[in-house]
Amino acid sequence: MNWIKTLNSPDLLLDACSINKDQASYQVFNPYTNKALCSVANLSVEQIKHSISAAQTAQPEWAKKSATERAERLMSWFDKVIAAKDDLAKIMTLEQGKPLQESAGEVEYGASFIKWFAEEGKRTYGKHIPAPKNGQQIVTIKQPVGVAAAITPWNFPIAMITRKAAPALAAGCAFIARPASQTPLSALAIAELAYQAGIPKSLFQVVTSDDAKAIGKLFTSHPSIKKISFTGSTQVGQQLMAQAAEQMQKVSLELGGNAPFVVFDDADLDAAVKGAIACKFRNAGQTCICANRFYVHDNIYEAFVQKFIDQVAELTIGDGSQEKVDIGPLINEQALDAAEEKVNTAVKHGAKLKLGGQRDTDHPQCFAATVLTEVAHDNPIMTDEIFAPIAPICRFNDPDEIIDWCNDTQYGLASYFYSRDINKIWKVAQALEYGMVGINEGLISNPVAPFGGVKHSGIGREGGSEGIEEYLETKYLCFGGLG
Ligand code: NAP
Repeated sequence: MNWIKTLNSPDLLLDACSINKDQASYQVFNPYTNKALCSVANLSVEQIKHSISAAQTAQPEWAKKSATERAERLMSWFDKVIAAKDDLAKIMTLEQGKPLQESAGEVEYGASFIKWFAEEGKRTYGKHIPAPKNGQQIVTIKQPVGVAAAITPWNFPIAMITRKAAPALAAGCAFIARPASQTPLSALAIAELAYQAGIPKSLFQVVTSDDAKAIGKLFTSHPSIKKISFTGSTQVGQQLMAQAAEQMQKVSLELGGNAPFVVFDDADLDAAVKGAIACKFRNAGQTCICANRFYVHDNIYEAFVQKFIDQVAELTIGDGSQEKVDIGPLINEQALDAAEEKVNTAVKHGAKLKLGGQRDTDHPQCFAATVLTEVAHDNPIMTDEIFAPIAPICRFNDPDEIIDWCNDTQYGLASYFYSRDINKIWKVAQALEYGMVGINEGLISNPVAPFGGVKHSGIGREGGSEGIEEYLETKYLCFGGLG
């Protein structure tokens, strides 16, 4: 707890981490040191039912406010998040492990959704539709769905909440978030800032619990919850969608990915290497849109691999709280074991280990930046979601076959390719069965664009003008008997 007092604003967490002795709690750990940071409330299903009732009571009042007033509160929240950037980044690095500069980047990225949806909330337009007969007028209006609930993952402890909470609140919904059990602190801190900005406590709630399954069941079975938004694995997303059918809830799912990163022989090689590194190694490879498998054309394969290895070897591994660290710890022991296992299996299937391949000797909670070459398209490492700093590189020759290889997966979240041929660019971009395509660009996330996947990568979009639609119902009004 002492570290909380060293924050510029200890009030971001002091209340949430001062647990009443009658309240069950669980400990939150620093993944780099494996030491406990503090405890948070382990709320029971009964307690969360009270939270849902309070949210339901608060929602109509909030929906009655003008879009401008809601926007003002959201903008005040945005300002407070930006002002607290250093504290929030510190909290995030401590509980999640990502390097401080990446955490600060996520705070800005997370805040950008608040600003974007503060504005989008003013533009939830309906329509006037020409009626098919005289004496009628047809109009559509948009209304908030009611109470929305979300379950979010540990890899983006702030952005995965604001990307959902901001459109929900802007639309006039109440919002309850259950953050991943490993990373509740960032979520509690941004909720505190929302309250300081005048967003009512019962309207926006962060409920902490280490029993994800029970909370998932509660959210999907509760009649007051009209919308469930989930970011996490495909397997859990499928379960939640099946459960949500009971109450016919609206569902948004942002799930797993298996992003291909293709470098054609007409690409700008330096730009491709730079994009590949940014895309693969941020957050120690633990993002759903990280490049998962690299395909490099035979004509430039050796040149690309050499440049890539030279630059990956320069990445600094260690404690994310320290300056100049590029790759922090993986989230837990299982993730480290899984990464080691994936490399070993890939090598057994013929891949050549060129760099890394195991836990870092000086920083045992970190996995060394790893490069595998001569990886066949059917090597298991090309089909699994890696979620670690491991880059498998495959050679290709046939520019048509490569599209089939890219699409040869159940996933369809992000994809990337580098080329300078406009005809090829248009053809490949259209043929890729993915929700998002980075063309000569390795970093594609921003608030203005619709983020989301197809196939087993999800349903719905977050960000852009589409993101707020997920929290709105369209109502059709038919005025009859008009002169
Ligand atoms: P996960 O196991 O599905 O966990 C995600 C969240 O779901 C956590 O809050 C977790 O709680 C909770 N959860 C686990 N089992 C549950 C259940 N039976 N019912 C309800 N909730 C449950 O995923 P993960 O492995 O931690 O996260 C990585 C996955 O998320 C990857 O597949 C990645 O691609 C995906 N992801 C997708 C996006 C996107 O936008 N598409 C963004 C980020 C991550 P606990 O923390 O208590 O386990």
